[in-house]
Amino acid sequence: MATLVQKYGGTSVGSVERIQAVAARVCGYIDQGHRVVVVVSAMSGETNRLVGLGRGVSAQPVPREMDVLQAAGEQVSIALTAMAIKAAGHESRSYLADQVAIRTDSSFGKARISHIDVERLNADLDQGVVPVVAGFQGVDVDGNVTTLGRGGSDTTAVAIAAALSADECQICTDVDGVYTADPRIVDDAQRLERITFEEMLELASLGSKVLHPRSVEFAGKYQVPLRVMSSFEEGPGTLITTESKRMEQPIVAGIAYSRDEAKLTMSGVPDVPGVASRILGPVGRAPIEVDMIVQNTGADGTTDFTFTVKRDDYDHALDLLGPVQRELGARELSGDNKIAKVSVVGVGMRSHAGVASQMFDALAAENINILMISTSEIKISVVVAERYLELAVRCMHEAFGLGAEVVSEE
Ligand code: ADP
Ligand code: ASP
Ligand code: MG
Repeated sequence: MATLVQKYGGTSVGSVERIQAVAARVCGYIDQGHRVVVVVSAMSGETNRLVGLGRGVSAQPVPREMDVLQAAGEQVSIALTAMAIKAAGHESRSYLADQVAIRTDSSFGKARISHIDVERLNADLDQGVVPVVAGFQGVDVDGNVTTLGRGGSDTTAVAIAAALSADECQICTDVDGVYTADPRIVDDAQRLERITFEEMLELASLGSKVLHPRSVEFAGKYQVPLRVMSSFEEGPGTLITTESKRMEQPIVAGIAYSRDEAKLTMSGVPDVPGVASRILGPVGRAPIEVDMIVQNTGADGTTDFTFTVKRDDYDHALDLLGPVQRELGARELSGDNKIAKVSVVGVGMRSHAGVASQMFDALAAENINILMISTSEIKISVVVAERYLELAVRCMHEAFGLGAEVVSEE
């Protein structure tokens, strides 16, 4: 008998029939003697619809109210799921975040979980009742509704699993595991039997939306066994694990991409100390998160300064830089919000030189121009024009032999 936390994503609870299928699946686990806490997302498309309504009402929606609005999606799906489990033969009770309670800080739209009370969940499990908890939402110290950021139900599930010391947290979704690249883009992407927390965190942070980055961070920190698996069919899925010496590490574990990117360039800036701080100061204070930064000095003694931000922050960042350009006497301020970032990730890269040149050769062979590059010990990211995104992902997948070979021992 195991204590399991099972999270079902938007597609998995996207219709009445699918919710009934989830209920039947959960009941199957209970019948086998397991104790199961269910976490659900909003029905697919619902959070986008709610965000659209909020943006329709106000060009600069109030973050506190946007969180109340977005949290509504999960309220519907927990009630429907709990009712479906009851109809399928087991007692079940739905819980909003404040009923559990799932405590967070007050950063609306990107709140972080600080504590979860597990008394009610444990009491239900002891009585054979299946608790169905709303993912993605929390409650701050003043009782305000908060949300954890898009895709955040994964993090709710892992945090509950950590608080309960569950045997496993299972992220049940519309793919049967973590693949070497998004299977929607790469036909011959391979499911990984296992992946390290470190690689999964990097892939998730670089855009692979199969797991919310915070959920991986949480699972690594609290040693929660984490598995990504299909909601629809049986199978082992992908286990996220600590690095094992016995595992033959492939150099590259997978490819991630993000369309959520934009870049800004200030050209012809006088090359004097303090320029980077004058340019990035107002952006950082906004606060707008800056990702890659490149600075080049030209022959004429001026410098060009380029950095990337999330696409949603592009207009705001451009507005902030107008006055800075005038102050610094820079020649030009330009930008591009039709760019994308493609990254190769693998802990095996630590001990292998030449991965970058292999990646650049593959892009060159397809005539794809690299706009920016950034590297760390276990990843290389390039920025390319968005129109080349899918081609870039596919050609890198092929260049590193990810489709053809068996990628792990198991
Ligand atoms: P859910 O609604 O269940 O949370 P998501 O849409 O958030 O599901 O995440 C699952 C999706 O992640 C898949 O449908 C797939 O297209 C995408 N994805 C991106 N990269 C990967 C990857 N490396 N492996 C598996 N799925 C991936
Ligand atoms: N419903 C939320 C979203 O669409 C949370 C989640 O799906 O994990 O982002
Ligand atoms: Mg998701």
